[in-house]
Amino acid sequence: MAYKTNKYPQDELIFVDEFEVRIKRKKMKNMRMRVVASDGHVEVNVPLRMPLESVKAFVRSKHAWIVREQQKLQNSPQRMVELASSAQVREWRAAMEFFVPPLVEKWARVLGVEPGVLAYRNMKSRWGSCQPTTGRICINTRLALYPPECLEYVVVHELCHLREHGHTPRFWALVEACLPDYKRAKKLLEA
Ligand SMILES: [Zn+2]
Repeated sequence: MAYKTNKYPQDELIFVDEFEVRIKRKKMKNMRMRVVASDGHVEVNVPLRMPLESVKAFVRSKHAWIVREQQKLQNSPQRMVELASSAQVREWRAAMEFFVPPLVEKWARVLGVEPGVLAYRNMKSRWGSCQPTTGRICINTRLALYPPECLEYVVVHELCHLREHGHTPRFWALVEACLPDYKRAKKLLEA
């Protein structure tokens, strides 16, 4: 008796209209599709014996959704950072130099702290920093690409470090007392 083998390769790259589509065959019942963040290609997880034509029809039926997801990726802050020219990087800095000092002034008064020098840097791995000894506060210029609530959260976060050094429960209670909604901004920045 001939053993019925699967006629489709496990992984396959096809093009459907303008989309690059990576097919991954798996033991599953329904197709599942996503737009991959790194380069915007489409990945579809497909049941082992699903005919290729059905996969193509499925992708075509989601055309508008795919375009929308790809546009979202294109406009994400992460993508804008990757594509930024040096002129744009200077614009972020100018925006921060404009918006940060009034925020620092406002929240320093509320918290009763005395910040030192304000600095601005285009940084990869942190949104801000605070030197407890000098009070020097450094703000990541990439915050210009995020909603204003994110900038305000980072300013408050760093100023709160002038009262509480570590990320203790007391520290977070202080942040929350200033910005009851801070978790939303924090989440956006962690994404
Ligand atoms: Zn911190």
